Amino acid sequence: MRQSYKMKNKSQNFLSKDECVYIYTDTYSSQAVVSFVLEKELPSEPFLLVAEEDSGDLRKEETQETLHRIMKLVNDTLASEGTYSATTLSAEDVLAAIDSGKSEGGPHGRHWVLDPIDGTKGFLRGDQYAIALALLDEGKVVLGVLACPNLPLVPIVGHDQPYSHDEVGCLFFAQVGAGTDVQSLDGSPPIKVHVSAIDNPEEASLFESFEAAHSLHDLSSSIAKKLGVKAPPVRIDSQAKYGALSRGDGAIYLRFAHKGYREKIWDHAAGSIVVTEAGGVVADAAGNPLDFSRGRYLDLDRGIIVTNTKLMPLLLKAVRESLDEKTSSL
Ligand code: AMP
Ligand code: MG
Repeated sequence: MRQSYKMKNKSQNFLSKDECVYIYTDTYSSQAVVSFVLEKELPSEPFLLVAEEDSGDLRKEETQETLHRIMKLVNDTLASEGTYSATTLSAEDVLAAIDSGKSEGGPHGRHWVLDPIDGTKGFLRGDQYAIALALLDEGKVVLGVLACPNLPLVPIVGHDQPYSHDEVGCLFFAQVGAGTDVQSLDGSPPIKVHVSAIDNPEEASLFESFEAAHSLHDLSSSIAKKLGVKAPPVRIDSQAKYGALSRGDGAIYLRFAHKGYREKIWDHAAGSIVVTEAGGVVADAAGNPLDFSRGRYLDLDRGIIVTNTKLMPLLLKAVRESLDEKTSSL
């Protein structure tokens, strides 16, 4: 609710009231359902959750209609699932679930980290988005789950046939030391995935944000040129990029936010373990691993770069050179 009307849609217009109500209903509902179910499933340990939303705005007089829509969506969702089908949450229960376990993260204990809808702009466009859940243990990501309802089951790059839009919906999950699996959201058997094994950057496909406001496309283009990447960048929203990369759809993901933007842990925690457990490397622009132990924000040296172990040294060199050129041209 905080950002109402400040977000722009595909035509670069500010969002309509209907679009705002739609996105906030789904985002809060997602957070309420995940939080409610996690806490019920894990009664024996303190429940700590770092999540993007809190219920503050939903407690206001003018948002009561939205709150009722959220309550209905939460209850309809629970009713459709065997285990919780007999559960009905009141408006107060929904608000409590959204705020439950409210945590700032940090280096101690176990904290769940949730982005209830990552890639809201993709969600509104009907493109890619993800529900991203991770578990931090003593500041390290030990588990990650990425649900990508619009991601095709077949690779999205490197094949000639246009994919069928019927065959979408991927669930990636990774546990430290146990690899990364993918299955379809409607429940196919899980299969292990691995990042691309290519060692020639000319053959790489490169992912970046769809939104130019989220990542410096010019800088990625300069890095790609230095590497000799031939294919045009693949621009998609959300941590679906990490999922796609974990199964080898592309070989590089670059993210350089505009000056002053601080990356949040829920935008990268699940995605990063999905990639590292599939054999990839996730680092900042200086090659340091991402540090999830510092609370809600990542403290980064400039950007986030993701690739396989063979390409990482070349990628780091290209990143360093491009950043130096950018600095000297200012
Ligand atoms: P993506 O779809 O990969 O571009 O990333 C979506 C995420 O970018 C959202 O969940 C936001 O938290 C985050 N975001 C919002 N504004 C910015 C920004 N100015 N720069 C970088 N990331 C942003
Ligand atoms: Mg997000």
